[in-house]
Amino acid sequence: MDFRGKTVLITGASRGIGAECALEFARNGASAIVIGYHKSERQALDLEARLRDAGVNALALRADIRSARQVESMFQKANAAFGPVHILVNNAGISGFSLFTDISENMWDDMMDTNCKGMYLCCKEALPHMISDKDGAIVNISSIWGQVGASCEVHYSASKAAVIGLTKALAKELGPSRVRVNCVAPGVIQTDMLAAVAEDVQRELAEETPLMRLGTAEDIAKAVCFLCSGEAGFITGQVLGVNGGFVI
Ligand code: NAP
Repeated sequence: MDFRGKTVLITGASRGIGAECALEFARNGASAIVIGYHKSERQALDLEARLRDAGVNALALRADIRSARQVESMFQKANAAFGPVHILVNNAGISGFSLFTDISENMWDDMMDTNCKGMYLCCKEALPHMISDKDGAIVNISSIWGQVGASCEVHYSASKAAVIGLTKALAKELGPSRVRVNCVAPGVIQTDMLAAVAEDVQRELAEETPLMRLGTAEDIAKAVCFLCSGEAGFITGQVLGVNGGFVI
């Protein structure tokens, strides 16, 4: 994979899967990497420094992806620093566990706004340049639960299923503009997001996984980079499950 000359913007890159995606794009030669973050400023700035030390143009930019104004400002700053974004990774997201009957309207709206509306806002900002260049790649991060649904995670599952619909519809619309849109649906991945899951449950989940382990952020980052690369030039509108066989 070779991302020389490419500017990559990754949302939720302060931690977990997004941060590992930034490192993987850097390892594969990306010219410039924008680290989107919301609250974890220290981690975002540390990653920016690490990438700069490795000779990559990196910039950490704060934006709450639920806000159109903040997303617009993030893209304006990215454009001013590095020119148009060629690759967008819509990774930022939240999870939540609750009985369906206990999901409040605020919880529902927050889940949808973060996991789904944020992608719409970021795509809207990135696409004008991609369409006029007739070149671009977008990868959206869904989840196995968006594919098969999870008990006590109805709002999360619904938001991640919406990501799959968004991906497929947008891929059809943008194919003639030669912009590819794909989706990665991770299984159970060891990041901060898993901290809410008890250790014995994590062990059970690993045992239920055909490959007999939980996933790592590296597993996901490698799949994301592949889908954004020239090697995946004839792949669009697809959902790549990176889940150790948990969902087949
Ligand atoms: P994580 O470690 O909790 O990181 C979440 C990231 O999203 C952070 O960088 C956070 O930024 C950012 N974020 C959250 N709300 C935001 C907002 N309103 N605006 C901007 N950024 C926001 O989670 P992760 O495990 O790496 O998850 C990354 C993606 O993979 C998510 O979409 C998640 O649903 C999906 N996924 C994860 C798993 C898993 O098992 N871990 C499985 C399937 C899918 P700050 O920290 O700066 O606020």
